[in-house]
Amino acid sequence: MEAWGALEVRVGVGIDIGGSWLRVGLGDPHGNFLKKVVKKIVYGSAEGLLCSVASAIREAAGAYLESLEGIGVGAAGRLDIKRGVLEYSPHASVKGIRLVEALEAEFSKPVVLLNDCVAAVIAEREAGVGKGLDDVVYVGIGTGIGGGAIVDGRILLGKDGNAHEVGHMIIDIDGRLECSCGARGHWEAYTSGSGLPAFSRLLSEEYSGEKGLICRLRDGQMVEAKDIFSAAYCKDPFAEHILDKAAEINAIAFANLVSVYDPQLITVGGGVALKNPDLTIEPLVGRLPRACFNSPPSVKATPLGEDAPIIGALISAFDPIRSELRPE
Ligand SMILES: [Zn+2]
Repeated sequence: MEAWGALEVRVGVGIDIGGSWLRVGLGDPHGNFLKKVVKKIVYGSAEGLLCSVASAIREAAGAYLESLEGIGVGAAGRLDIKRGVLEYSPHASVKGIRLVEALEAEFSKPVVLLNDCVAAVIAEREAGVGKGLDDVVYVGIGTGIGGGAIVDGRILLGKDGNAHEVGHMIIDIDGRLECSCGARGHWEAYTSGSGLPAFSRLLSEEYSGEKGLICRLRDGQMVEAKDIFSAAYCKDPFAEHILDKAAEINAIAFANLVSVYDPQLITVGGGVALKNPDLTIEPLVGRLPRACFNSPPSVKATPLGEDAPIIGALISAFDPIRSELRPE
């Protein structure tokens, strides 16, 4: 392993427990990594998940394990940050995973738990395009849709640490699609990577075209989000129609965020948006001004890429942000 020379460095570990990937990194308080470990995540039992997180921490920390100042964990799902519990993950069948207690017992280091997109907005303010800004929102459009908000320079947390669950805002009053959380009409059910296939089937019911992607859907073939984007890049009219409707919904949801948070900047991350910014971010930016009451913020793809949550988790492993994330 490459070492940071003879310098006395402060080291911590940041973890991103996402929908598809587990990312664990050893790094410094500024979000610079010395080593990163990325593994396909296997959600099964709570013990299995905790075991794979602990083994990835050992692998990333290596000889620095005893020197760690802390461990920051960003996780997708509903949290109880005071108890350090991942209450519910849309990706896991198990509920109530006691992440902080288990990792503190295993490593005897302070552990902080935060939402993965809250970690991302922290990263954006400390190391991304949000530097120096007091009002920043991060939206991750990936397997699911999540958000994190800094308002008046403070990280918004709420009573349990879920003040920013923007993917579960209702954007369809008719509730035509069911969300992974079981409720209906939530944003994530329509334009996230996991939602787009069902949204496509919904739109296909009223679509009159007869070739390309629409035929695959009508033949009952499996269509994934990446197929929709590939077809749209090939000018498939139904794929373009789906993404046009998705952009309308994304613009409505962003306008809602502008109304409640009044940010200077919204940064956008997540695999779906970052792989297809011209078909996701650009079309919603064009629609945003006429949907907003407040003056529209600038909207940018995060320069931190898919590392935004793990960078924020790493930064959060060190004081003083940790104290803000561990309210009494
Ligand atoms: Zn939901």
